[in-house]
Amino acid sequence: LFITFEGPEGAGKTTVIQKIAERLAQENIDVLATREPGGIEIAEKIRTIILNPAHTAMDERTEALLYAAARSQHYFEKVRPALDAGKLVICDRFIDSSLAYQGYARGIGVAEVLSINEFAIGKKLPDVTILFDLPPEVGLARIHATGNREVNRLDIESVAFHKKVREGYLRLVAQYPERIHVVNAEQAIEEVVEDVWSLLLEAMQ
Ligand code: C5P
Ligand code: MG
Repeated sequence: LFITFEGPEGAGKTTVIQKIAERLAQENIDVLATREPGGIEIAEKIRTIILNPAHTAMDERTEALLYAAARSQHYFEKVRPALDAGKLVICDRFIDSSLAYQGYARGIGVAEVLSINEFAIGKKLPDVTILFDLPPEVGLARIHATGNREVNRLDIESVAFHKKVREGYLRLVAQYPERIHVVNAEQAIEEVVEDVWSLLLEAMQ
């Protein structure tokens, strides 16, 4: 079973994934928790290129292609083998990030970004996607409050950009209502964990 976590900055995806992975391990469920862009050496290197704050000249097509390149390597080197071995795979961001950020918010086109990604990984989408939804202002405020985060090239983006990302994600929910489930990420982290846990139990039936 391949489960992806999506949502904006400061939504709590990484924290919740850690807690969920611990719970799954306690239940003796064989889980691989990983992230994008990254998860393996080559993709982590691509991540540093994409997110380097000095790379202000990066064209949005270059960005979309680098995300797809990182995804391809990570998918075939790490995700696919784990799925083939029968593991539950949980991934912090996946294709929907590209569709929402590059396709919709940056305006390349969702269909165009989907086709790049079909070249990168094939047509198969995650089995279940959990979208952490919250107003961008709330997510951005959390990031500034905690400050425990690497500086990245997205830091210069406006609230308007992040609103578009949210809108892009919500359009994907309308497009893939069976696959994408929305969780209210404005709640306290423990409540988000409970909501995600229920969705996971349902998915594992
Ligand atoms: O999930 P994480 O916070 O590690 O993502 C790193 C950065 O990359 C974030 O600023 C996120 O908004 C950005 N990103 C992006 N396009 C993607 C995936 C992530 O702009 N397709
Ligand atoms: Mg995170």
